[in-house]
Amino acid sequence: MRTEIFARRAREIAASSSLVRHLFEWGRDTARARPELDVIDLSLGNPDLEPSPAVREALRRLAAEEAPGKHRYMDNAGFEDVRATVASHLSLSAGLRIGADSVYLTCGAAGALQIVFGAILDPGDEVIVFAPYFPEYLGFVRSTGATTVVVRPGTGFHLDLEAFEAALTARTRAVILNDPNNPTGLSYPPSTSARLSSLLAAHRQRTGRLIHLVADEAYSGLRFDGGPGASVLATWDAVWLVRSCSKDASLAGERIGYFAWGPALSVSETLPLLRSTARALGFASAPALMQRLLPFALAHPLDTSEYRRRCERFVAILRAGGLEAAFPDAGFFVFPRSPIADERRFCRMLGDLGVLCVPGTAFGAPGYFRASLTQPMARIEDAAGRITRCAELVAGVPPVEALRASA
Ligand code: PLP
Repeated sequence: MRTEIFARRAREIAASSSLVRHLFEWGRDTARARPELDVIDLSLGNPDLEPSPAVREALRRLAAEEAPGKHRYMDNAGFEDVRATVASHLSLSAGLRIGADSVYLTCGAAGALQIVFGAILDPGDEVIVFAPYFPEYLGFVRSTGATTVVVRPGTGFHLDLEAFEAALTARTRAVILNDPNNPTGLSYPPSTSARLSSLLAAHRQRTGRLIHLVADEAYSGLRFDGGPGASVLATWDAVWLVRSCSKDASLAGERIGYFAWGPALSVSETLPLLRSTARALGFASAPALMQRLLPFALAHPLDTSEYRRRCERFVAILRAGGLEAAFPDAGFFVFPRSPIADERRFCRMLGDLGVLCVPGTAFGAPGYFRASLTQPMARIEDAAGRITRCAELVAGVPPVEALRASA
């Protein structure tokens, strides 16, 4: 009899994230075994632009500073002066007074989400997630003992708020709003969060139950229209706003982000409870040097014009080749429709042509695939050309084969 080394929950989480992992491993092995393919990896959302010159300069200066105690532990929530800077930055767009004690500095957006979920979820609770979704949500929620309830997308990947309302139950404890969205790059109009919030308010009035809105804005600084607009913080009492420097400042490997909440959640136990939740998860605090760098990252946003140019070129080549691809509002992801219903098969065929993309099934949106444009322009153009050739190839697939592919 086989003895299990690992816990059931850990094994279930690993199994649910296996699609992207398999693709990544398959791509790596293929690149090694068949160098002639010249593999272009558009699978991982790993920003390739360097942080802005001002942020790099600030990092050099901060690292060179000699000050006693610089490397010690600090408040689990982060340095107070840095939290105050983040708070005034957020207050401006929220039209609310956010204080330093309503900001928590974290190891990226992932750390923020885990602390928030750890603080608000009990086993058996339900968290509503809109498809397409960032696949890690499933594992984050699962690790608290809560479960995710997926709401299918509306037209053009906008949120289907009627379906959301129908998904509310007595166990619903939170809803995740990812704006701008990974994988579509879509940013929702302010009316969406306003409507979502009014549904949460109506639910509370009807049932007395509070549902938390977890607003994951990990790509808020990469909007092509010039940065975050109206803040979601003011729309509902129980909003946890999560942001990160991973993509916004191209500091993904440095693990710095933060979350904030409005006055209605700022009760006396909030900060102590968040600190102990974070410690229980193993986060004593975010890295000290990166906390110091955070104000510079906020003051010197990344120039997104290169990502925008790549998206324009990629979408133009795909459309000229007959593929359907929406232009994103932010970031570096494009989420085209697969020319065959079985997008996993299309992605495998793309792999044989040396282009790695992630099947939409990994994000709860089959029939589409995600391309992460984190490669130089010439590689993006090369990849787009191979994708359109692959689409031409599948257009020639005999009907029986096509039927089987979509089954
Ligand atoms: N949320 C979304 C939607 C993401 O795409 C990512 C990373 O890809 C994260 C959160 C986690 O970001 P971080 O690297 O800041 O932890």
